[in-house]
Amino acid sequence: MPNRKTYDVIVVGARCAGSATAMLLARRGHSVLLLDRDTFPSDMEASTHLIWQGGVARLARWGLLDRLKATNCPAMRNVSLDLGGLVLRGQPPPDGTAAEAYAPRRRALDEVLLEAAQEAGVEFHPSSAVRGLVTTSGRASGVSWVDATGSVFEAGAQQVVGADGPNSIVARAVSAAVQDEHPHLQGIIWSYFGNLPVDGLEFFARPGRMVLAWSTNDGQTLVGSCVRYDDYAELAKDPDAGMRAELLSLTPTLGERVQASQRASRWRTRATQGLRRQASGPGWALVGDAGVTMDPITAAGITNAFRDADLLSDAIHDGLTGSRPLDDVVARFGAERDAVSVPLFEFAREMAKLDPPPQPMIDLFSALPGQQDAIDAYFGVFAQTVPVTRFFAPDNVARIITGANKRASG
Ligand SMILES: Cc1cc2nc3c(=O)[nH]c(=O)nc-3n(C[C@H](O)[C@H](O)[C@H](O)COP(=O)(O)OP(=O)(O)OC[C@H]3O[C@@H](n4cnc5c(N)ncnc54)[C@H](O)[C@@H]3O)c2cc1C
Repeated sequence: MPNRKTYDVIVVGARCAGSATAMLLARRGHSVLLLDRDTFPSDMEASTHLIWQGGVARLARWGLLDRLKATNCPAMRNVSLDLGGLVLRGQPPPDGTAAEAYAPRRRALDEVLLEAAQEAGVEFHPSSAVRGLVTTSGRASGVSWVDATGSVFEAGAQQVVGADGPNSIVARAVSAAVQDEHPHLQGIIWSYFGNLPVDGLEFFARPGRMVLAWSTNDGQTLVGSCVRYDDYAELAKDPDAGMRAELLSLTPTLGERVQASQRASRWRTRATQGLRRQASGPGWALVGDAGVTMDPITAAGITNAFRDADLLSDAIHDGLTGSRPLDDVVARFGAERDAVSVPLFEFAREMAKLDPPPQPMIDLFSALPGQQDAIDAYFGVFAQTVPVTRFFAPDNVARIITGANKRASG
C-alpha cells in the first residue's frame, strides 16, 4: 500500500469511549488517528443518555463539563425509586466535586468529546469504515478502511484500540475471547416529551418493568420503560398505545404527566443484552462497549467508557514511554477494568431480569427508610461513587438491617 502513514495509536470508533481515549493520548503528546464510519455531529439512537456522577467527574477532570453544560443540558441531583408502596428518595454521594448527573443527547455529548480530541491534535476521519486489521508477525500493527467514495486506505500503529461498540470489528478481527455473555433479558421503550416536569431522576420498579424519567437537552424529558423480554415484543408493536396505558395503570403520577404533555418524537425500542470480552492482546485493546457491553438498565455504559478511556490511555502512555514491552503494560488495563466492571456487569444482569426482588433484597429495601446515608449509598452504586461490592458486603447489609431494628425498637 503506497504512502502508508504510521501513528502511535489508531482508535476505531469516535464516540464516548473512542474520542475520550484518543483525546487523552493526544494530550500526552502521542500521534493518534481516529476513524469512524459515521459523520459527526450525529445522534446515536440507542441511548437514554444518562451520565452518572462517576462519569461526570471524569468530564470535569478532563475540562469538558462546562462545555457539556453549555449544550443546554440540565443538572440532576435528586433520585427517587418508587418500589410500589415504598418510595426511596436521596442523592448519590458525589465523586469529588461532581454531585450531579446529566443526560445529554448523544449528538451533544459525542460532539463535545470529538471536538476536544481534535483540539488535542487527533487526526479524525469520518465516513471511514474499518474493514480489517493489519498484522505483523501475529501482532496487530494497523487497520484498513474504506471511505464514502469506496477508496481503500491503510495505516500503521504501535497500538490499535477498538472503541467500535458491541459489534466491534476490531474484537472480531483479533478473535477476542468472550468471557461472559447473556441473551436478551429486557428491552427498552422510550420517547421524549416537552413540558413534562420531573424531580431529578425518577425510577418506578414494577413487576417486569423499570419505568424511568429524566431531563435531557432543550427542555425535553425522556420517559421510558425497561420491559421484561417476554413482554417486550408485544409492547414494542404499538408503543404509543401500550406505553401510555401502562404508564397510567402502573405509575399514575408519571402517566398523568405524560398525558398532559406533548410527545416530541416517535417511540424508540431496543432489546438489550450483555457481553464481556478479553480486554487486550498483541497490539490491540478494546474500550467501552467493544470490551464490555452491559445491559443498560443501570445506565452505566457511558460512565464505563470514560473509565476505560482513562485506564487504557494511562497504560498505553506508560507502554509507549517506558522500557517494558507495550503489550505487557497494556495487559494491566484488563485487570483494572475487570476489578470494577465484573461486579457491575453482574449487578446489571440481575436487574435486567426484572424479577420480583428476592427476600434478602426486600429486607434490605424495607430497612432503608429513615437511614438517609444508606439510601444515598444505594443510589451511589448506580452513580459509581459507591462500589457495588462495598454496598452489598454482608457487614454493610447487616449494619443497615441492625440500624432499622434499632430505630424500630427505640
Ligand atoms: C437502549 C440503550 C440505552 C442506553 N442508555 C444508556 C444510558 O442512559 N446511560 C449510559 O451510560 N449508557 C447507556 N447505554 C449504553 C451506552 O449507549 C453505551 O455503553 C455507549 O454508547 C458505549 O460507547 P462506545 O463509545 O463504547 O460505543 P458506541 O457508542 O457504540 O460507539 C461506537 C462507534 O464506533 C463506530 N464504528 C463501529 N464499527 C465501526 C467500523 N467498522 N469502522 C469505523 N467505525 C465503526 C460507530 O459508528 C460508533 O460511532 C444504552 C444502551 C442502549 C442500547
